[in-house]
Amino acid sequence: MRILITGGAGFIGSHLCDYLLEQGHEVIAMDNLSTGSTDNIAHLAGHRRFLFIHHDVTQYIYLEGRLDAVLHLASLPSPVDYLNYPIQTLKVGALGTHKALGLAKAKGARFLLASTSEVYGDPLVHPQSEDYWGNVNPVGPRGVYDESKRFAEALTMAYHRYHGLETRIVRIFNTYGPRMRLDDGRVVPNFIRQAILGEPLTVYDEGTRTRSFCYVSDMVEGIVRLLMSDEVYPVNLGNPQEMTILEFARKVLEVTGSTSEIVFIRPSDERTRDDPMVRRPDISKARRVLGWEPVVSLEEGLARTVEWFRKRLGK
Ligand code: UDP
Repeated sequence: MRILITGGAGFIGSHLCDYLLEQGHEVIAMDNLSTGSTDNIAHLAGHRRFLFIHHDVTQYIYLEGRLDAVLHLASLPSPVDYLNYPIQTLKVGALGTHKALGLAKAKGARFLLASTSEVYGDPLVHPQSEDYWGNVNPVGPRGVYDESKRFAEALTMAYHRYHGLETRIVRIFNTYGPRMRLDDGRVVPNFIRQAILGEPLTVYDEGTRTRSFCYVSDMVEGIVRLLMSDEVYPVNLGNPQEMTILEFARKVLEVTGSTSEIVFIRPSDERTRDDPMVRRPDISKARRVLGWEPVVSLEEGLARTVEWFRKRLGK
């Protein structure tokens, strides 16, 4: 297949490039490098089935030749990024998805939208299954991300229903691994960086909120299985192993062998307003439809991620 990945120089996007190239596909990575980096795809330079295009997907996308699939991952998924760039976040989720869908339609390509567990907002149902409609505050600071992804899902379904486009929607839960930006502000890079550098681990509020962390190779495997499946309605992908942020901080200390202390801090109101209290994917549908479930344990995934962070930090 000839496959376009928007956000192809990003964290998950670049791992998808590697995976699909290994499977023998031709891959075009598109990225405006706002949060992605050519470092993530530098090892693919010169690969005869790989092409990188520096382009912002909120602008008209022109691509020569046939295309079999568009994987639309371009986005600003870190809360810190979307608080700093709220309008760009809305634009890439809305206008960028429109352009990517238009391209898929023009080429007769299959389209996969990278959606998010944030469509469930601060959930009132736990764990979250795909039939839950969510609890999102449209005018809160996280609304720019959540609503753009909800709009993107609606637009994707409209292209499917109205234009008969082959579409897939994956709701990605917290994912981690090598190539996360060291300074993206999310909990995994923050804690690992702090632990390696011997700085205090910054647990927000009481650290009682929960998350469930999925290693990137499991995520990529699930995304490709969904792409190749017939499932049109959204599918959750994530690791159902749930823990509090405080437990996660202790786990990072254990894996890194760091003697850093844990500090409880109150970040700005904007940073934690509407911050979901709990989050865990119900992955029964992914198990049933894709025969997928995560196989990498938190210890194993964290060890690989820590090793990569150490190299990047020169430690
Ligand atoms: N968090 C924290 N310390 C940090 C960064 C994040 O306690 O240095 C918390 C944050 O408030 C949230 C959870 O960790 O409850 C996960 O945050 P992250 O930014 O990774 O992404 P989210 O899951 O909220 O999209």
